[in-house]
Amino acid sequence: MTRPLLCPGCGEREGVRLVLGYPNAQARAEVERGDAVWGGCFMPYPPPPRPWVDTACRACGAQWSSEAKPSR
Ligand SMILES: [Zn+2]
Repeated sequence: MTRPLLCPGCGEREGVRLVLGYPNAQARAEVERGDAVWGGCFMPYPPPPRPWVDTACRACGAQWSSEAKPSR
C-alpha cells in the first residue's frame, strides 16, 4: 500500500494517487482499496502544463502535484 502524503489543504496525511481518465483494472483496484482517488473520466483540454496534479486528499478532496513544492 502507498503511504499517504501530507495534504497541503487540511494537513491530514490522506494524500493518495489521483487517477485521471478511464481507470484500468489496477487503478480501479487501488481506488476500491482506498489507495487512490478517481478524479473523473474527463481529460482536460488543452493539457495543462506539467507538473500536473497527481495526488488527491481522501479527507478534504484537495488535489495537487506531488512534484511541486508546497507553496505554503
Ligand atoms: Zn486534505
